[in-house]
Amino acid sequence: MPVRVRFAPSPTGYLHMGGARTALFNYLFARNQGGTFVLRIEDTDLERSKPEYTEVIHEALDWLGMTVDEGPYFQSQRTAIYQAKALELLEAGNAYKCFCTPEELEADRERALKEGLKQMYSRVWRDRRDHPEGLPFVVRIKAPLEGAITIDDMVQGPVTVGAEELDDFVILRSDGSPTYNFVVVIDDATMNISHVIRGKDHLNNTFRQIPVYTALGFDVPIFGHLPLIDGLSKRKGSMSVQHYRDLGYLQEAVINYISRLGWSHGDQEIFTMDELIEFFGFDHVGRSSGRFDDDKFLWVNAEWMKRLDDRDLATRWLPFLAKAGFEVSVDERLLGIVAVMKERAKTLVEMTEAAHYFFSDEVTLDEGAVKKWFKPGLEVIFEDIVADLSALQSWTPEHVQAVYDAHCAKHEVGLGKLAQPTRVSVTGNTVSPGLFETLYLLGRETTLARLKAGLAIMKERAAGDA
Ligand code: GLU
Repeated sequence: MPVRVRFAPSPTGYLHMGGARTALFNYLFARNQGGTFVLRIEDTDLERSKPEYTEVIHEALDWLGMTVDEGPYFQSQRTAIYQAKALELLEAGNAYKCFCTPEELEADRERALKEGLKQMYSRVWRDRRDHPEGLPFVVRIKAPLEGAITIDDMVQGPVTVGAEELDDFVILRSDGSPTYNFVVVIDDATMNISHVIRGKDHLNNTFRQIPVYTALGFDVPIFGHLPLIDGLSKRKGSMSVQHYRDLGYLQEAVINYISRLGWSHGDQEIFTMDELIEFFGFDHVGRSSGRFDDDKFLWVNAEWMKRLDDRDLATRWLPFLAKAGFEVSVDERLLGIVAVMKERAKTLVEMTEAAHYFFSDEVTLDEGAVKKWFKPGLEVIFEDIVADLSALQSWTPEHVQAVYDAHCAKHEVGLGKLAQPTRVSVTGNTVSPGLFETLYLLGRETTLARLKAGLAIMKERAAGDA
């Protein structure tokens, strides 16, 4: 049986991390098995479904590198198919018209509540033939009255539900529109889906759907209900894939992190998409996903920042730099900055903030750092350093270092005493990559201008002390 799986989002919002994990497990399974990955847009809820969310879902899947092989199919375009199937069920006696009014249903519900019984439709119309003319009706499926349904879930193992738990749910509303649990079955069956892989929150639906498969004479697919991810539901709005993209997370890191929410491969933490495709299987999908862990996710992203090739990372960095007002292009200098900064920043946004002094002359010196490091007496040494740096033949990290080494020796001070006030002058603070690499990347002109400005402050402070 060829493997055919589907991702079936409802276009009612952004693609969040839980949805992306469902998509990924379907995608990895399809690729691992040489199968087909189908996209189906479940837009039957006309009020909440919006075309722009379909766009957003496409954009997120594209960005994450999950290529769709077939689709998208839109449920909203398949109403005629669903209605024809409902008619088929009615004719075969596997579904029936129910003429209960909302008031009658409400009264039933209240009675059940009072008597402490399960609130379930009474099935009064299941076998009645005295159908009134011209009154509105819904169509209900005939669920089994006895026995039990067992599925052998790829993740949850065997799960059984007794017939007493199942109700004759509505498959066509009184306006003729089909309901969700009905259309999903028809879609999965007619699209020849071999494995239905979705969140465990759909497990109850599965048991309601199986009688529909049986009634329509369809084969029941294999199911895999993925464990829910703790800590996601409360933060729904802020958990979209695009949200993390805009925070400067890399797609490799998103894929890597969500792959581990419920799946493992020994102790390995970092995976490329190719490795995931190679290793993925349901034998290692567990019944728990664990908690969504922001720190771990950030760590995975930091690892991917280091792993990416400088040019690739620089290209992905450009939009973040542009957003911060820095219009640069990928050149030797930018590659040099990426090489030193990617080891220290955990996201592209963090890297933009940390590297601002390479792109902007608006460097504000931190007051505390100035107080701590601009010691009286330094102005004499810095006057010399500025002069020597101006006279350097060639501006390389090695030549710049030679100037500093010479002044450490001449004035008998440790490098730290000169390095920190230099950093404060050129970056505003005491945190930067290797000093000589930083000065080299800033270039002679910028370095000297900033050192001179720092020197002026040193002199002012010395004069104030005197
Ligand atoms: N449209 C459903 C959802 O977004 C998915 C249902 C399914 O996978 O069967 O939760």
